[in-house]
Amino acid sequence: MPSIAFLGLGIMGSRMAARLLGAGFSLRVWNRSKGPAETLRAQGAFAAGTPAEAAQGANVVITMLGDPSSVKDVALGAGGVVETLHPNQVYVDMTTVDPATARGIDCACRRRGVAFVEAPVTGSKLAAAKGELVLMVGGPEEVVRSLDPVFSPLAKHVVYMGDVGCGSTMKLVNNLAIAGSILALFEALTLGRRAGLADERMIEVLSHSALASPLLALKARAVAERDFEPHFAFKHMAKDIRLVVAEAKGHGVRLALAELLDSLFAAGLERGYEDEDFAALIKVVEQAAAAEGLAVGDAGATRNTRAEL
Ligand code: NAP
Repeated sequence: MPSIAFLGLGIMGSRMAARLLGAGFSLRVWNRSKGPAETLRAQGAFAAGTPAEAAQGANVVITMLGDPSSVKDVALGAGGVVETLHPNQVYVDMTTVDPATARGIDCACRRRGVAFVEAPVTGSKLAAAKGELVLMVGGPEEVVRSLDPVFSPLAKHVVYMGDVGCGSTMKLVNNLAIAGSILALFEALTLGRRAGLADERMIEVLSHSALASPLLALKARAVAERDFEPHFAFKHMAKDIRLVVAEAKGHGVRLALAELLDSLFAAGLERGYEDEDFAALIKVVEQAAAAEGLAVGDAGATRNTRAEL
């Protein structure tokens, strides 16, 4: 079995690393804060003191970090992973970043003769724990195919998107669709509640309608129970929508829903929801609906949310 270095053991990374360990890979792990690496060390992984030490001798190096700047810090910064890699190693970044960041890492890897693959994921912490993620992969196709044994314990479906950058672009497309759907759901629930409908009844109808989906099941339930323990942190969806808006601007595309989402997530960050699940967006929607002079579903008014809250 090839050996794998796994860097970044947050909600997703800790579960993905545990899947790789369970599949029999020799695993070297690193995390900025110490706790998560200790848990995996107790299960048989080697816990490294630095990213470079983790990467040393591993056939495949995987990062699953927070955002573009954390990937740049760990991969490209002084003492970063890339400057330690050799041409017989493959570097895979699974963090959600923008395509330009992915291409920048690809360039740095090429200068060292190292193959780079981007493989952002969809599916949340339950899917990560069960190895049921969906991967959107960009990079040289033969290298991607060689990673089948590594991806197989992590994912139920792997889609090859094309060159580096295509996977990250697809991930932003995916999350815009998810965040937009959630906003529609939350506005609908807010209207129903204001009109006196019970959460349970609304969820029952929606779950048997054409809207039925894992997203609806998970997030409508979280909202009904006011349980915002993070599966997918608010700050990460806020980051993804920020990246969507920037990407759209770069392509000369005006996306009204993405801009509205961006302002609502910014309002939520200002209110301190960053480490809650992104289902906490319901609180921003409710606050907007309750604000003086705002009507539920009044998109023009909601667009002013950030200024008015
Ligand atoms: P998370 O729980 O916040 O974990 C982030 C990880 O990155 C932690 O290990 C953190 O280390 C590390 N990190 C952050 N900044 C760092 C820095 N500057 N230097 C070194 N390490 C740093 O996030 P997650 O939920 O696992 O998500 C990871 C990525 O996958 C994100 O890009 C997210 O958007 C994406 N994603 C998440 C989900 C989901 O449902 N959760 C689904 C699909 C994609 P510490 O432990 O020291 O803070």
